Amino acid sequence: MSNCPFCAQENASQATVCCSCARDMVVPSSLLAERDDLIHKRDKALGELMKAKLELEAARRAKKLRYV
Ligand SMILES: [Zn+2]
Repeated sequence: MSNCPFCAQENASQATVCCSCARDMVVPSSLLAERDDLIHKRDKALGELMKAKLELEAARRAKKLRYV
């Protein structure tokens, strides 16, 4: 048995495609590392986007208070 790197579903050892999520089971570890790196970068970017939105919202609110 081998576990799917994406959904952890158990598959036959010789399976090349996951029987549960249908993704490729045979993925080079370099690609998995790259994927983890991309996920990490995406999370960081989302965090920065969220922060920027909050700052923009705060700035808008401050502007309204000043000019109304
Ligand atoms: Zn899977």
